[in-house]
Order: sequence, then C-alpha cells, then structure tokens
Amino acid sequence: MKILRATHLGMCFGVRDAIDLARQTAAEKPLSILGDLVHNESVIQDLEQRGARVVRQLEEARTSAVMITAHGASDRQIARVHARGHEVIEATCPLVKHAHQAVLRLACEGWHPVIVGQRNHIEVRGLTGDLDAFDVILSPEDVQALPSRPRYGVAAQTTQPLARVHYLASLVRQRFPESEVKVVDTVCQPTKQRQSAAMELAAGSDVVIVVGGANSNNTRELAATCRRFCARVWQVQSAAEICASWFEGVRICGLTAGTSTPDDIIDAVEVRLRELAEVELVEMVAVGR
Ligand code: SF4
Repeated sequence: MKILRATHLGMCFGVRDAIDLARQTAAEKPLSILGDLVHNESVIQDLEQRGARVVRQLEEARTSAVMITAHGASDRQIARVHARGHEVIEATCPLVKHAHQAVLRLACEGWHPVIVGQRNHIEVRGLTGDLDAFDVILSPEDVQALPSRPRYGVAAQTTQPLARVHYLASLVRQRFPESEVKVVDTVCQPTKQRQSAAMELAAGSDVVIVVGGANSNNTRELAATCRRFCARVWQVQSAAEICASWFEGVRICGLTAGTSTPDDIIDAVEVRLRELAEVELVEMVAVGR
C-alpha cells in the first residue's frame, strides 16, 4: 500500500499563531479562553495542562485575562469582555478579521448580509454579532426560507467550500430574480488550498484518511469533499481509531487533515498507516512462499 499525503494539509497559520499566543500568555498569567481555541481535543487538553481554562460563557471567566479565539468575536462581544473588567487577549485570525470587515462593508453599503455557514458556529456568531439584520444559510431549504430583499450580499464562514458559496448564491439569484445579489469571497486561502489538494488526493486514492477533531467544521468539510471523489473515506481523531480492515485491497491510501490538526497527530497517523502497509507486504511475501 502506497501512502500519499495531500500537498496542503493540517494546521493553518491562524490556528498555529493562536495556540502560540495562548501558550505564551498562560506561561505569564492565568488565562480563560472564551470557547474552544481550536476544535481539537488534544490541543485543548495540552493548554489546560499549561494552566489555561476554556470557558463556554464570559460569566464563567475567573481570570483577568480572557482570550478571544482564532474564530474571532463581534465588537459587541469584545466590548462586553472589556466592560466586565477583563484584559482582552486577541487571537483572532487576520483572515477572520478580513471576513468581518467584508460583511460590515456589505451591510453599510445597503446589502442584506447572507452568510453561508453554520448558524451556531462561534465564527458565524462573531461575523453576525454586530449586524442588526442578516441571514445564515447552509442548504437550499435555507434559501427558500430567506425573506425578500432588494439587495443580498453573500459572504461566508472562512472554512466553507467556495463551490457551496457560489451554488447557494446562484439559488438566491434564481429565487429572487428581481433582486441584486453580490458575492464577496471570504473563504480563507488555507481552506481553499486544503480543499483543492483534498480533491486531487481523493481522485487518485482507493481510500482516504482525514485527520481532525470530530467537532471541527473544516475537517468535516474536507471529508465531505473527499467523498465526492473517493468511495472509502474515514475521518479519525487519532492513530488509535484506524482499523486494519479499512485497507483490504487498497493500493493507494490518501492522507489529509483539517486546519486544527497538530502535526504530531498527523505524523502518528502516517506511522500507523506505514505499519499497516508493512504488514500487508509481509503477508503477501508469506503467501507467495
Ligand atoms: S482556517 Fe483560515 S480563517 Fe480560520 S484560522 Fe485558519 S487561516 Fe484563519
């Protein structure tokens, strides 16, 4: 069995920088992180061991320093953190900030903001938290439920597949032919690179392993993209979840990972895959005798 790594995979610079900032800050003072810094259990556990604590609600923060995650937060939310007397540690990814600015510009210019993304995702709550009116869509049914507006400004959660954004925007145009529809591309470059590398990888693989947290949106999206090109796709959080039976008759196994997956977890998965490849080789030799 040959193992192919996607040309772009794993942790993006935004997540890496946010984890570094959390580690540095936790080494200096007690730190509360508002929501999962990244959607990856092992990274969160490591940060907790270093003294940082993840809190779900601002009211749970018992430290002076409160970190806004790479997913960002609305200005209103950040103002609430300041108003409670906390020091704000900003780990918002610059590409999420860019998306915030794009969405606010749409609203200021009179477009009704329509965000392609998951309604309750922390990034989408941040993107929409300063808007007085907006809609969030993820499916054709959501487009059907949109209110009628003369001008729609479509933007997206940074980790959405660009093809989905354009598809849903085309449905908005069909449903409201009298309205103007403007699309602003806010999908981040690392997501685009990982998505296109995953398509190429899946098209040439018999099985694909996608490594990432079970609750990571971009990992799920990567797995969904791979399934369009390869019938056998498995999403795992660690090497321990890999089953030898997945590789029966497999000649090429593709390996990719979401933007919140640390390098050491990807490497451990690759080592496990190489062990399985070796086992297959030994068994083949044994049968040959
Ligand atoms: S996925 Fe994109 S927007 Fe999100 S942290 Fe990474 S680079 Fe930034």
